[in-house]
Parts: sequence; C-alpha cells; structure tokens
Amino acid sequence: DKIVSFTNSRLQGKGRTLVYFDSDVKMCLDVATKMTVCEEDASYPTELPLLPEVKDAAAVSGACMISMVVAVNVAGEVTEPTIGPGVTKKLCNLKVATGNEGMSAAFWEPMASQMAQASVGEVFRLDWMTLVPEGNGMFKISSAAHSTSRLQTGDAADSVRSALATDVESMSATYGRSRAEKLKELFTQGSLSTLDHIQRLNAQEGGYAAKCIMIPAVFVKDIRGMSVENSLATSYLGCTQCKKQLPDSMHCETHGVNNGKKVYGAQILFADPCHKLEVAVWEDCLKAMCQEFGVDDMDDESALPNLLVALRAQEMCIRASLGINKSGTSMYLDVFDVRPQVNDAGAQAIFKHLPNDTFVGAPGIVPACCKLFASNSLGQTVVTVDALEHVVDSIHLVCKTTDKPKMEVLPDIDGINVKLTAQCMKCNCRLNGALQVAHRRIIPEAEAQIFAKSYKYQAEQFVMHMKIPRSQEMSKERTTDIEELCLSQRTPKRLKIAHTLDGDAL
Ligand SMILES: [Zn+2]
Ligand SMILES: [Zn+2]
Ligand SMILES: [Zn+2]
Repeated sequence: DKIVSFTNSRLQGKGRTLVYFDSDVKMCLDVATKMTVCEEDASYPTELPLLPEVKDAAAVSGACMISMVVAVNVAGEVTEPTIGPGVTKKLCNLKVATGNEGMSAAFWEPMASQMAQASVGEVFRLDWMTLVPEGNGMFKISSAAHSTSRLQTGDAADSVRSALATDVESMSATYGRSRAEKLKELFTQGSLSTLDHIQRLNAQEGGYAAKCIMIPAVFVKDIRGMSVENSLATSYLGCTQCKKQLPDSMHCETHGVNNGKKVYGAQILFADPCHKLEVAVWEDCLKAMCQEFGVDDMDDESALPNLLVALRAQEMCIRASLGINKSGTSMYLDVFDVRPQVNDAGAQAIFKHLPNDTFVGAPGIVPACCKLFASNSLGQTVVTVDALEHVVDSIHLVCKTTDKPKMEVLPDIDGINVKLTAQCMKCNCRLNGALQVAHRRIIPEAEAQIFAKSYKYQAEQFVMHMKIPRSQEMSKERTTDIEELCLSQRTPKRLKIAHTLDGDAL
C-alpha cells in the first residue's frame, strides 16, 4: 500500500456526505488530477480534535462526525428494535454528559453490547460518532460503522467525573413526557391530511424533530379496541418493552417471554373537513376522554360504545405530538388530547383553509351551508360551489329549529321520520326538502352563539378549500409547504371568535 495525495480530484458521493478514515472512497480523476506519492508520516492526524464540552454541540448546525470525552450519566441495556421489514439491529441507549449538559447516545451493533456494560460515572472517549441535530436546538449522538469507544482512566477521567453536575440538563429530545407537560406545548395548526403526510415521512431523510400539532373540526367516526380477540376491550396484555399484544405463550417476537403489562388504547377513526384518518390513542388520552365524556368504568365492555355515542356529532380539536422515534427508524405519532372544539369559554381552534393542504385523501365531514350540498348520480353526498363538485363523507350542519318536531315511525325503514322546520345558521334560510340525519346533537343555549359563529366561519373556509386543486399524493418526502406550516406556533389557549370571514359580527 502506498500513501498518495490527490489534487484536482473529486470524491464520488455514495449518497453520504460524511467521509471516514479507514473506509473505502471512490475518487473521480481526470486529466487535471495530480497524484503524488507521499512518505510515511507518523504524525499525520487520524483523530478528530475533541469537542470541549457536550454543551458546545449547540454550535453545530448540521449532522457531523464528532469525538468527545464524556461520562455516562444514565446506563442502558441492549434492545433489538426493528429497523426495516423483518430486520432488527442491537441497540443500547445511554445518556452521556460533561458539566451540567448531557445528551442521548445511541450505540448500535457492534458497540451495543460493550456500552450496555458501562456504568454511571464511567468516562469514555468516543470517536467518529455522528452528532444528530434533532431540531429546536436539541442534539443526540449515534454510533456509525467506524465509531469507537474507549474507557478512560486516571486523572483525565477523574476530572470529567468530578465536573459532572448532580442535575444534568438534557440537550436531547425527550420521549415519554407526561400528558400534562404535552398540554402546555406550543403547537402548529394543521389538518388530518398534514398529519397523515407527516407520519408517512422517511425518518432518516425527511423526518421532523419533535413537534406538536392541533387539528380542529374533527369528528369521531368510529372507535375500536386494539385487542386481537375483542374489539370492545379498552386494554390488552402487552409486552413490557414494546407494548405489542402478547400471545398466550407470553412470548414477544422481539423481547422474548415476559410477564406483560396492561396496555390501554383504542383505534379512533377521525374525520375533518378534508380527510379521514385512523390513529391509535393510548392510555392517558383515552382515560381523559372517558372522564370528560362521562364514561365511568373504562374496563367495562360498554366503555368504547358509550364513548362513541357521547362523541358523535361533536366537533373536536385533537392535539398530537410527532417526531422521529427513539431508534430513528420511523415517525411516531402520539394523539394526547381530544376535546370539544368549542365551548362557552371559546374555541380551541377552528377549521381554516390551509393553502398547503393539497393532498388527495379520503373524503371528510364538511361544514357546509344548506344550499351547497346535494346527491350526485352515484348517490354520493357532494358539496357544489359554482361548477366545482366535491364528494364528501357527510355534511355538518348547524341549524335552529323553529317549531316542535313531529315524529313518525316508518314501516319498512330502520329509523324514524322527524318533521321539523329549521333555519340554517349560515344563510338563515329555512331548510327545504328531506335530509337523512346520521347523528345529531342539541347545542346548549349558552354555547349557541359561538357555535353559530364557528360554523359560519368554517363553512366559508371550506368553500375556499374547494377552490384550490387537490393533486398531491401522500409521499415519503417533506414538502416545503408543510415545513412552513410547522414554523408558525401558538399557545394552547381558547380563543374568542370575533368576526366571521365576511365581517359579520353575529
Ligand atoms: Zn416486545
Ligand atoms: Zn344554509
Ligand atoms: Zn340561505
């Protein structure tokens, strides 16, 4: 082997921007390339200069290779997450620190087993680790193929250990925060299509770091339990590590035999004006929903059906946190709050047409004035504006009854025929003709005005939404529009609705 130096040559990219020592690289040479054979040079550096302190990572703007001497402040054990279809890889998650700042460190195979032996207070020199920015000024480190870790002893190790604060602050995104903490977070307002798009993103290339999103004007269409045997059950026995339901053998494919734990959760099918999406809702949120909607015994088989009845025809706001999962392999989505959109204290948020919401998706439940909806030749419910026609799941209509309803039981049809006169709260016209009402709810007198305002506003916004072409298929790539959407954030405080779009102060 000879050591050579190249001038006027180019490294052939392999989709990577980081180059390691001791790794094969492809060079592009041309007539202008000069190659010089060099003498053996023992002083040629093969180590990176050390990052002085963990906190200095904050000065870094993109992913890069890094070397640092750190103390372990939270030990870890080997897990084996799934990193692709049918592929698992050993991983050990630790926390490392210097001074009063620390960060999460992911050590993959072949370092996982070695680092799982590390105990709190031990000092390591880590070389060729990848420093990964997680957004919002947060960072973590992750091992790569050429990373090394060497236990440090003696004075240097002692000084790192003694400089370690007792309350180390983490520079890394945290997982498993409490619901109370999440409820205080700033959020971006989006739609179910935004959420659907984000959860499909390729975490390695296009993932978003920890974000919180609120989606207004959402109806609950269906709720089912997650237990394989019983779709009415609110809980199942899951693996203590990955929550997957354990079979009778109590053997998790990934984590082996364990005693399991009771996992509460449900799959909820949500529909907003633009999209339908089924997502998992876990223990804390499901419990809070049961409490808010008067379902007392969560363990009873009537809990989910009763919750569904209580939620029907109620416009909700849902809040979810999302980001790249702990192992960096996909996006996680955590719906942590589902509560009424409007109450007498104001609106949490209301449906607003988003110019970046151009995804093609399942039709949603649409706030529309009595004049805009009809049935098409296929019997589908459609909203029409000028020459535009939009197939919807169903219509959300707010109206005021003007006399006592007359009821009549129909002979061969499931349901009853109710005759009433009512006034559309958007256009004030009397409703004409027959409607098939799927679900209805009586709005309390105290909330009637704010409901009428939000309905009127949302119906106007949906007309705007209809006028933009929906063309984009959901993809695994980021879009700059969604990126921009995520930049605007607000605090979780109920808003008073002052004016509708046309300036009417109802
Ligand atoms: Zn498991
Ligand atoms: Zn109307
Ligand atoms: Zn009208």
